[in-house]
Amino acid sequence: FVNSIEEFFSFCQENDVKYVDLRFTDLKGTWHHVTYRASAINEDNLTNGFPFDGSSIDKWQPINKSDMILKADVPTAFLDPFTADPTIIIFCDVYDIYKGQMYEKCPRSIAKATLKHAESLGIADAAYFGPENEFFVFDDVRVIDNINEAGYKIDTEEGDWNSNTHYPDGYNSGHRGGVKGGYFPVAPIDTQVDLRAEMMDVLEQVGLEVILGHHEVAQGQGEIGIVFSDMIGAADNVQKLKYVVKMVAHLNGKTATFMPKPLFGDNGNGMHVHQSLWKDGKNLFYKEGNYANLSEMALNYVGGIFRHAKALASITNPSTNSYKRLIPGFEAPSILTYSMQNRSASCRIPYGAGEKTTRIEMRFPDSTACPYLAFSALMMAGLDGIKNKTVPVGPMDEDLFELSLDEIREKGIPQMPHTLREATEALIADNEFLRPVFSKTFIDDYQHYMFERQIWPDESRPTAYEFKTTYSC
Ligand code: GLU
Ligand code: MG
Ligand code: MG
Repeated sequence: FVNSIEEFFSFCQENDVKYVDLRFTDLKGTWHHVTYRASAINEDNLTNGFPFDGSSIDKWQPINKSDMILKADVPTAFLDPFTADPTIIIFCDVYDIYKGQMYEKCPRSIAKATLKHAESLGIADAAYFGPENEFFVFDDVRVIDNINEAGYKIDTEEGDWNSNTHYPDGYNSGHRGGVKGGYFPVAPIDTQVDLRAEMMDVLEQVGLEVILGHHEVAQGQGEIGIVFSDMIGAADNVQKLKYVVKMVAHLNGKTATFMPKPLFGDNGNGMHVHQSLWKDGKNLFYKEGNYANLSEMALNYVGGIFRHAKALASITNPSTNSYKRLIPGFEAPSILTYSMQNRSASCRIPYGAGEKTTRIEMRFPDSTACPYLAFSALMMAGLDGIKNKTVPVGPMDEDLFELSLDEIREKGIPQMPHTLREATEALIADNEFLRPVFSKTFIDDYQHYMFERQIWPDESRPTAYEFKTTYSC
């Protein structure tokens, strides 16, 4: 890992680097890349940037203003573990040459602006984020077969849709975990031990500090725990983790997916986000003796997130599939309250945390979110809560999945939105809190993107379940 341009060139020489791969992230969180011959890289373009066509990225530039610049963040450079020739990957920020500043739709630049904003308010000088990205590994061929059959087979009651699937009564189910049977049986029920070990090794190679890997609750579901980082580092780590997990699965003839709810009737994939704000080396979220040792500022931060949660969801849960995960009974939250230990609440305060480790865990986001945008939006909502001293509903330590809809209504407990439309409409109505770092153009184009690419296409397609409910009407 390199700290300066000189170190970069000596690193390239030592490792016989042939290619330099520039990577940047779009609104969806998708990584894009362009590969330069190492011989074409020099101090000038490494400092001043590389041109590319910004009109070919969805909802970015119009064709008549397409020239954009990629600015390499040199200290992020690392060797790609998957290429045949030695290739170095560098995270880049997108720069608007016309305006001579960061591009207003570059998620990584928005995240940097969010940190600056927190500092300018005098609230915090550092923010730590710990995302947990769950995923499924499916058998490549079977998934493709089923998708070819019109994608209508995702019904776990009779289903036979992935390699770890449910079988009807009387069928030999062998070493299969069954619905919610993944936590934590050893091999041979856990078939992904070696695969996760390989993923963990490669993650270490690309600079992540790995703590553990385990099978998750659902069939074929896994998780790899990595050490938290500063906000930008944590979002960069999400991009690396998704790349490595998907590539290692692929090279083993499998596919990995971070899709929030691939299987009806079993747990989904979350991206829980642990967060704390710091100033002058002190954890602002810690106050000994309070409930869960949480400071008032931490509670207000949570209050701000809950207050804006419906709008935030369009950024933290930005797919129609996201809302199939946010239902009671699967360890994913639907109710906006906080609690120590409670995995049915939207915000859990992890057990036994001390001065350095006290933090909040927001449980509603998922990995379809662009990590830079999700972390920025969460933090902007939290800062808004701190400014307005917003108090969240809670703590609620009971199993919230047991609450009836009537009770939720009577107690006035706020809930997450139920659809991407509801979330995106909330974002259109409630985005003032984001505006110091998310421009109006950004919000406009973002919501159009959600309607055009997700909401309308989804709403206009008959589903398998509708055949069940309406075919014989
Ligand atoms: N898979 C659950 C979710 O959708 C979370 C399980 C856990 O607490 O790790 O958020
Ligand atoms: Mg988990
Ligand atoms: Mg968690």
